[in-house]
Amino acid sequence: MKARIAVLPGDGIGPEIVPQAVQILEAVAAQYGHTFEFHAADVGGAAIDKTGGPLPEETLKLAKESDAILLGAVGGTNWDGLVYEVRPERALLGLRERLGLYANLRPAKLYPILADASTLKPEVITGTDLLVVRELTGGIYFGKPKGIKKTADGERGVNTEVYTTAEIVRIAKVAFESARKRRKKVTSVDKANVLESSALWRRVVLDVAKGYPDVELEHLYVDNCAMQLIRNPRQFDVLVTTNLFGDILSDEAAMLTGSIGMLPSASLGSRVGAGGPVGLYEPIHGSAPDIAGRDLANPIGTIASAAMMLSYSFNLDKEAAAVERGIVRVLEQGYRTKDIRSPRAKVGAGGAPRVPVAPSNATGDGPPPEIIVGTKEMGRLIRQALTKA
Ligand code: NAD
Repeated sequence: MKARIAVLPGDGIGPEIVPQAVQILEAVAAQYGHTFEFHAADVGGAAIDKTGGPLPEETLKLAKESDAILLGAVGGTNWDGLVYEVRPERALLGLRERLGLYANLRPAKLYPILADASTLKPEVITGTDLLVVRELTGGIYFGKPKGIKKTADGERGVNTEVYTTAEIVRIAKVAFESARKRRKKVTSVDKANVLESSALWRRVVLDVAKGYPDVELEHLYVDNCAMQLIRNPRQFDVLVTTNLFGDILSDEAAMLTGSIGMLPSASLGSRVGAGGPVGLYEPIHGSAPDIAGRDLANPIGTIASAAMMLSYSFNLDKEAAAVERGIVRVLEQGYRTKDIRSPRAKVGAGGAPRVPVAPSNATGDGPPPEIIVGTKEMGRLIRQALTKA
């Protein structure tokens, strides 16, 4: 197949992790006989520095004309002083809005070999395999009125949580359809005991559920859900929720799997105006300015996002599975970026970091010793594992 892919590395670690995912896609193309055309453009702070705005028309045009979009991350301290309208993060909201990307899919699956890397006990997180379906173009991030206004005794900040029936129906359908391909359970998360918009959310989700009698539906208040995610994450299959709750809960879910650097996402929708499906793929983490430019970033979330692109945008499930197997293989060989090293490897005798030199242990039993590698080497190893898959 032929596909045109927009590549938007963005800021911070974005320009380090995105090339690793592009090289994986190139390797897939070479191995399976596909043609992927890559076109790069600026977004976020990088675009502000060049054009004055976070989402230049040229970038938006490229995104609209592409079959899929691969994005790194945006933002950083250089641009923190800017007003909200021109901050790097506005580019994400702009892309979602202008491309009609209303469904954000964030799988959080624990790789068994990384059970040790989470801050939670292995017996709690083992078996975690859930999908957060977050509504992406509505809710409090877009609702009006919004803004900060001067008042007689100071200032008043306002944001508005708004959901319509149509918005809830389409995201609920994505959740039920996704659950049908998984373990057939949907948990709808809201705050219906306090918020009217949530009361509507619950009513509409219940209505949509009537079309999916084979899928079990439960409702949880967001505060309880936050607690249940830590207490017993295995109970969840598909979680469907609003923009704000999904933003927070999916970061929490990320930590169950060890590191935010591991998790991919897909934002799906139908092109505004032009019709047809569109997908934007990005890791769930931000631009990580604290580690940018040091070859420390974990590229796996971005590489796994490329795998989601293969599956969701191009229907290349076999190729997507090969990339995922490549990731597992490299982890099973003991290779780790710093963020996913296990606590036992963090400090060795004498307090020194334990960085073994061989990829498998001498006796052959137990997990192999960990080898800490950088961003580029992790990418290279996964590419290498892919050709052997
Ligand atoms: P962050 O996700 O960038 O970083 C949080 C922590 O996780 C940091 O300690 C970071 O070093 C670590 N981390 C993140 N990704 C990692 C990776 N791939 N490998 C290893 N470690 C990783 O969140 P933040 O610090 O709150 O935000 C930094 C900037 O990113 C801000 O400007 C924020 O607005 C922006 N941001 C952008 C996006 C996006 O582009 N989608 C999402 C969230 C935050």
